[in-house]
Amino acid sequence: MTAYPDVFATTREQMRILIVDDIPDNIKSLNAILEEDYSISFATYWKKALEVAERTLPDLILLDILMPDMDGYEICRRLKSDPTTRDIPVIFITALDGEAEEEKGLAAGAADYITKPFHPAIVKLRVRNHLMLKLQRDRLAALTMTDGLTEIANRRRLDLHLDAEWRRCVRTESLLSAVMIDIDQFKPLNDHFGHAAGDECLRRVAQALDGVPRRPGDLVARIGGEEFVCLLPGTDAKGAMTIAQRFCDVVRELEIPHPCSTVSEFVTVSCGVGTATPTMDGEPESVLKDADANLYKAKKNGRNQAVGP
Ligand code: GH3
Ligand code: MG
Ligand code: MG
Repeated sequence: MTAYPDVFATTREQMRILIVDDIPDNIKSLNAILEEDYSISFATYWKKALEVAERTLPDLILLDILMPDMDGYEICRRLKSDPTTRDIPVIFITALDGEAEEEKGLAAGAADYITKPFHPAIVKLRVRNHLMLKLQRDRLAALTMTDGLTEIANRRRLDLHLDAEWRRCVRTESLLSAVMIDIDQFKPLNDHFGHAAGDECLRRVAQALDGVPRRPGDLVARIGGEEFVCLLPGTDAKGAMTIAQRFCDVVRELEIPHPCSTVSEFVTVSCGVGTATPTMDGEPESVLKDADANLYKAKKNGRNQAVGP
């Protein structure tokens, strides 16, 4: 699935809070305050806290400071130094008061600091404020990675994803394939029906392409006017060619009339596949260049087809 996590549809009840405290009664009392508004999970020691945080990416972490083996300050520092958990706001909830402790907590990267015994209504409001800020941040981040016209991933998201997946493929010693997709003779279609119709065509083609790949890690992005890229980590050239052929089929099956095409009565795409064996000093962009070279061949061979390595 490649659709961007739909943070615009997220409701308050769907926001997730992780409560970390070694004393179950403390967890119970916080849970009693928050459970009707949010989805809550718990951890009672540091290892579990870090594991749950990284695996489930909660929207907020309520963290006790005094705990055996590793204190809350250190847990917070670890969360803040890990790129996957760095953006999760942390609120310390602790019996330690005093300005020095509070300063230490905020310096460790916490968003806020609440001292026990706490006032339930204030905990509720502070939690709500931090969750609303988190939701706004997530929505802005999603917007910067989404193509405004087609609502699929944009170039920026593709570049970040390519870098991350390239590194993952180096670690797992797996192949990385890319498919470059370009609408055939789009300029005459635009000129014939006008820009608005061209835009509508782009939206329908983008949505159709986006529905093709299904594995986690797959991504379809619009990278320019009528050009798209699909990344397929852990996929060899043969697998990528199957997907590329699917792209040609799903677009043709939309049956968008194209009276100016020399290839078909309907809108079609051409695809080029590139496959790389990622290495530490290799260049992620190279897989896109290879896909582009094969796209060029597909155009030269008569369009409405996929060409592989
Ligand atoms: P080919 O089969 O060789 O790919 O031919 P083509 O006409 O598709 O190729 P070309 O790259 O020359 O044309 C791309 C056209 O896409 C140019 C422009 O008219 C159109 N275009 C680019 N961006 C947009 C957009 O955002 N909206 C619309 N409606 N048209 C766009
Ligand atoms: Mg084109
Ligand atoms: Mg083009």
